[in-house]
Amino acid sequence: MNKLKHKLIFVYTTLILILITTLALTSSKVFMDNFNEYVASNREKEAENIVNQVLELFKSGSEPTYEELYAIGVNALDNGLIFMVNTDYENQLICMSDIFPNESNLMLAKMESTLESVYPHLQGEYQEDKFVLEDNGTTYGYVTLGYYGPIYYTEFEAMFLKAVKHSIYATGFAFFIVSGIIVYVLARKISEPISRVSEMATEIGNGNYKANIDFKSSTVEIQNLIDSINSLAHNLEINQQAKKQMSINYTHELRTPLTCVLTTIEGMQDKVFDITDERLDSLHQEVTRITKMINDVDNLIETSSSEIALTKNDFILEELIENTISNFENSYANKNISLNFKKLFNTDSNYLADEEKIKSVVINLISNALKYTNENGEVNVTLDKQDSNYIIKVKDNGIGISKEDKDLIFENLYRADQSRVKEVEGFGVGLTITKNIVVAHNGSIDVNSKIGEGSEFIVKLPLGRVYEK
Ligand code: ADP
Repeated sequence: MNKLKHKLIFVYTTLILILITTLALTSSKVFMDNFNEYVASNREKEAENIVNQVLELFKSGSEPTYEELYAIGVNALDNGLIFMVNTDYENQLICMSDIFPNESNLMLAKMESTLESVYPHLQGEYQEDKFVLEDNGTTYGYVTLGYYGPIYYTEFEAMFLKAVKHSIYATGFAFFIVSGIIVYVLARKISEPISRVSEMATEIGNGNYKANIDFKSSTVEIQNLIDSINSLAHNLEINQQAKKQMSINYTHELRTPLTCVLTTIEGMQDKVFDITDERLDSLHQEVTRITKMINDVDNLIETSSSEIALTKNDFILEELIENTISNFENSYANKNISLNFKKLFNTDSNYLADEEKIKSVVINLISNALKYTNENGEVNVTLDKQDSNYIIKVKDNGIGISKEDKDLIFENLYRADQSRVKEVEGFGVGLTITKNIVVAHNGSIDVNSKIGEGSEFIVKLPLGRVYEK
């Protein structure tokens, strides 16, 4: 597998290379084509000029002299052309390659090497163009111009061409280097945060939730990714801490009653304590308390999972509340607290929900109202139907809950102001379980409370499937 940075560099560099090469080749070709056109038209003009000069000599009446033609021929040789003139009756008046065989060959060889330097693979050869010397229907003879073709350049033209070609390639190369550097910087900029995020994800995978990506990216998507990974790590860290704290708390809560039971039993075994009915009762109470705590933990684990298994059946909510209340009658009477229930609507209807779990919601609320209300207090329970919800309210005039504690009491193991509740038996999981159950039924739970005045817990449960009776 390749690294993202290397992949990006490879892809972008290849693209740029293709782009630059295409650009360089196209511009060089376009330039060469235009330049060759220009050279060819120059050559045509040169040839026309030579032919016209010779024609003028013929038109003046007599055949041109050797000296006159020699002067034109030398000039032509300087321009890379071998000049020959024949009369119309094929009498050769001059042939420069016969006069200067060595110079002519040298000149052709030079032309060949100049052409080769521009087009290394082009196969050139000696070529001749024949022009008729004609005027007003009279043919005087022929001019033949020999050269190294298909195209020939003067030394200056070849140098110019090579310089232009080199500068095109040099610019392309420089452009390639510069864009290569830009690509490298860009690829690093894009890949660095991603590789940091990926390193971080590996760290998280290895259980190090304290890892944190501490830099900002200007790319929205990458910044979002960084934020998500950071918050994921943070949440996992909190979760891990919470789990740790939870097991510490559970162990602590269980150890106290267990130690008490253990020391009492050991005292009895060592005959330090007599085995009395009171001691056995107290042991029984402690063990019952431990069992209840373990059941609470069980319930909490069961209701904390994201998918609580609900076993739904039809029941009448009003009856469920009335039954629960009657079970509490004794306990309420012992504290001389009055417990009242009122249904605020007339129809009777079935409610489809997990009856057992809804029952524990009602038990928790009524039991808390009892625990946190002083003697001679009052607890009022109401059941109402609003919109498409059941509303259960449990209102007491007990010790109340402070503003700061209100949001926290639904948290696992949280108990408000320890000094006020420490006398009251409790474990701090009842409301967490209650909330989990209510939420699993798509409902909500809220509390209104004032210290010293009392609390009102309001449970909202969607009606679900209801059969009017
Ligand atoms: P527990 O009652 O076992 O401590 P809960 O989860 O049922 O645990 O309640 C959490 C905390 O909320 C309690 O410790 C108490 O401080 C507060 N609380 C619950 N119900 C009431 C109430 N009716 N009046 C005052 N405080 C309450």
